[in-house]
Amino acid sequence: MTDTTQIQNGQLQVPGKPVIPFIEGDGIGKDISLPSQKVLDAAVEKAYGNSRKIIWKEVLAGEKAFRETGNYLPDETIEAFREHLIGIKGPLQTPVGEGIRSLNVALRQTLDLFVCLRPVRWFKGVPSPVRFPSLVDMHIFRENTEDIYAGIEYMTGELDAKKFRDFLVNEMGVDKIRFPESSSFGIKPVSKEGSERLIRAAIKYAIQRQLPSVTLVHKGNIMKFTEGAFKIWGYDLAENEFANHTFTWRQFENIKKEKGQMDAEKALNEAKKAGKVIVKDVITDAFLQESLLRPYDHSVIATMNLNGDYISDQLAAMVGGIGISPGANINYKNGYAIFEATHGTAPNIAGTGNANPSSLILSGVMMLEYMGWDEAAEHVYDAMEHTFAKRRVTSDLYAQMEGATLMTTSEFAEEIIKNM
Ligand code: NAD
Repeated sequence: MTDTTQIQNGQLQVPGKPVIPFIEGDGIGKDISLPSQKVLDAAVEKAYGNSRKIIWKEVLAGEKAFRETGNYLPDETIEAFREHLIGIKGPLQTPVGEGIRSLNVALRQTLDLFVCLRPVRWFKGVPSPVRFPSLVDMHIFRENTEDIYAGIEYMTGELDAKKFRDFLVNEMGVDKIRFPESSSFGIKPVSKEGSERLIRAAIKYAIQRQLPSVTLVHKGNIMKFTEGAFKIWGYDLAENEFANHTFTWRQFENIKKEKGQMDAEKALNEAKKAGKVIVKDVITDAFLQESLLRPYDHSVIATMNLNGDYISDQLAAMVGGIGISPGANINYKNGYAIFEATHGTAPNIAGTGNANPSSLILSGVMMLEYMGWDEAAEHVYDAMEHTFAKRRVTSDLYAQMEGATLMTTSEFAEEIIKNM
């Protein structure tokens, strides 16, 4: 077998010793990258002995790439991700004045990584601002390529804004712009295709992992043809493509209308008993409230780009903040997946040994799961839980934990390995 991961008929074929390209990252990237790899290597060895091993291959991006090649994102780096499908990265500083908006965005766009996946769970012992963080276990599927993030904006006073305003007023008969002369404009493209591929991935994930529900989060009461359509496309998709595996709130409402509340409740209970995924929807503002008050009501969340941005940070804060929140950018169709720490480069603590490597380690765990190496992933989860429970933590968590022992980045990683 080759050392290159491949995809055949939608199934990943991961060799025993796959090459995994990694970007070290800027700032604390250098501090957390190697310790994280050591933790993942130890878990793989414990789970599979010599039969499986990650062959790490460094690829350049960010400051290091610029120093060595004069280019912030060399073609070889993109090529390595294309060839090996799966990779991992530390945080990258956004280069100022280089004509690249963000290296992260460039990677997502080039490889069309349309899902931003952020699982959010609590580890025993980690300080949290909520009373029952153990009830939080959510998986956010954030659409990664559309919405207001498309960057189609016109600044008031500029010719484009005037042209656009004139088009709206004169050609489209729009008369609802409160201050037309001084308005800026932003366009929000949300497509059926883009929404469907995101929601499809979320439903498949819920089915595979036997999770109870998928919540479509949207502001469709206000943005009817973008966010409202997202909801309708989601329900259509669930009912058409996953009829045997899902039951939707829309079906519940239809039964209620035709046969009454009792029959609808009965159908819902039967669906739950049969292990079907319940597909529901919640308006974004209500979701932000509900996720705090009743986090157990939501499991997989499917939402558009901007909502996903807000939701990710709120949920991360509920379980201990961005220092321990993992993430991945995935194209489920062609298999490309880049796992990444969700925090930035933290220049204020780079090189001090204070960085918490948990976000990158847990992103690596997501990578192991994506590869189907679940046993190794479990070893890391268990050992991390053990380490937090013993209150051995890096300085970000130390300050909030009574009776904790302060560890440097590499000591913390070693401690996890010890607890495996
Ligand atoms: P940041 O996440 O780097 O830092 C915010 C705060 O959190 C700082 O106080 C920092 O010390 C702390 N922090 C972050 N990660 C930590 C960790 N692992 N352990 C302990 N403390 C941690 O956000 P910022 O300061 O807004 O951004 C700095 C740079 O990072 C910018 O250039 C930004 O563009 C970039 N950035 C990159 C990514 C990415 O690569 N995915 C994400 C966000 C920001």
